[in-house]
Amino acid sequence: MREQRIQGIGVSPGIVIGEARVHARRRLMVRPRALAVDQVDAELRHFERAVEKSRRGILRVSTQVRRRLGADSANIFEAHLLILDDPMLTGRARELISKEKLNADFALLTAMSEIQRAFSDVKDEFFRQRLDDLEDVGRRLIDQIQSGRSHKARSQPTGPHILVADDLSPSEAACLDTTRVIGLITEKGSQTSHTAILCRSVGVPAIVGVENVLEQIKQGEVCILDGNSGLILVEPDPSTMLEYSQLRRVFAGFQLELDQLTHEPATTLDGHRVELSANIELPTELEHLPKVGADGIGLFRSEYLFLAAETMPGEETQFREYRKAARAVHPRRVIIRTFDLGGDKQPGGMQFPHEANPFLGWRAIRVSLDRPAMFRTQLRAILRASVEGNVQLMFPMVSGVVELRRALDFLEMVKAELDAERLPWNRELKTGIMVEVPSAVLVADELARMVDFFSIGTNDLTQYTLAVDRNNHTVAHLYRSLHPAVLRSIRLTVEAARRAGIWVGLCGELAGDPAALMLLLGLGLDELSVSPVLLPEIKLLVRALRMEDCRTFTDRVMSLGDADSIQAACDEVLRGQFGDLPLWRPAAPQGDNS
Ligand code: PEP
Ligand code: MG
Repeated sequence: MREQRIQGIGVSPGIVIGEARVHARRRLMVRPRALAVDQVDAELRHFERAVEKSRRGILRVSTQVRRRLGADSANIFEAHLLILDDPMLTGRARELISKEKLNADFALLTAMSEIQRAFSDVKDEFFRQRLDDLEDVGRRLIDQIQSGRSHKARSQPTGPHILVADDLSPSEAACLDTTRVIGLITEKGSQTSHTAILCRSVGVPAIVGVENVLEQIKQGEVCILDGNSGLILVEPDPSTMLEYSQLRRVFAGFQLELDQLTHEPATTLDGHRVELSANIELPTELEHLPKVGADGIGLFRSEYLFLAAETMPGEETQFREYRKAARAVHPRRVIIRTFDLGGDKQPGGMQFPHEANPFLGWRAIRVSLDRPAMFRTQLRAILRASVEGNVQLMFPMVSGVVELRRALDFLEMVKAELDAERLPWNRELKTGIMVEVPSAVLVADELARMVDFFSIGTNDLTQYTLAVDRNNHTVAHLYRSLHPAVLRSIRLTVEAARRAGIWVGLCGELAGDPAALMLLLGLGLDELSVSPVLLPEIKLLVRALRMEDCRTFTDRVMSLGDADSIQAACDEVLRGQFGDLPLWRPAAPQGDNS
């Protein structure tokens, strides 16, 4: 078979070689079959085997989630086990097999539909969540019944593999078993989609934006996935294999060089100290932080606690997770961002309205303010964890003064509540906001007087400033964080922060782009918060730059009027200074977004 080369967008660095495991979301295909009397017992036995295999599968996932995310997160699987034994589901299916002589999968589907119909009018969120659980368990069981019977079932690699999917939601990504999934290839997604961000965080090389991926890559085919260049080589030739083994050695050598910097500060050659912190999503990433040498956590995307577990984490779970993060980086700070739910981050355990434009809709601080019970629980947990001394709090997607005032008033109320209960919290707790909405940039002077710090979220600031959906493949070429409008917004925000005497950082993906580094330093950001996997590389570059050069470069680049010219200037200076290093570069969108 001849080698096939497919170009996608490399969104998480690293080179891996492995078998493809193709995962397509299927419609359930279940057909009724009338059984002969003498087939009923065999069908019942087949059904019982499927139930037992499903039970073992649920227990396996539950153990993994418990290990990665803690006991509370694994509770959902306890519920799945109960559903599996529910007489309304499996009991009813047994009855339909033995009395109505229906085939097992159809009997199960019928039992599921009966339950769904009976409870379809119930609006209660908890109940609706149980219906989702029912669907989940039912699908698993039907899969088991069908694959147990099929002689033609495709073999699925059980060892390490490259996952190939049309799309993967952030919650699915959060549940990836990274001991087995060594790489990810998807059709949908973009550089700043949350799934891509998550892959970078957990160090899984990934490529997105591969058209018709499910047709191009077949189950079990051997692939080389080069997350650095975005290239996929399907069934590679021996010479390509050799070439990539050499490339892997080059990267491994570079990695060793980066490892030497773990305990070194991110200080420029002319003595300017930059805070270089890490963005984290999952508590498991905490283990890797000491190795990358981060100055703390600049962005803890707390909503992933919810997304990974699919159920809302309670106060105690959140408290323990926040405290764990605080202790992991102590005495350096951890900035916990309150839930940024909505948009593409919609956990199964919560109901979201159907919206035509979810990113412009019920998202982030808007959701928190509308769900006081949830918001209160989270703020209590953060405040309680703040006694560790290094916790800071941040609100996402703030768009103006009134919204921020409401959030801050709510925070004061929760503080008073803890005081009344004599529960301690840190009186010095610092509070900040993400600046990621253009209106926040324009009223940054007012906002800066209300908080202790700003952290600029260029992922959203780019999409909202340029009116380009960050997840929409069709307009991906228009998504340019180096657009002058975005850069001028950053400059306005930094200036407002300076006037108010507060510090300002940047935690969008732009902070991890080597080509943007001189510009960001020159703009005067106090802190950059990046994916842990990219942090050592950025530190190496900071240590080789002079602040004076960064300022001169920035003055020149800020006078350019279009994204292509700015990108070209950034690329050129990077090539000139660091062209010999095997750096990871986010794929630059090609376009004419002037
Ligand atoms: C951002 O928008 O830049 C950001 C850091 O937040 P998120 O990617 O989680 O939306
Ligand atoms: Mg954001």
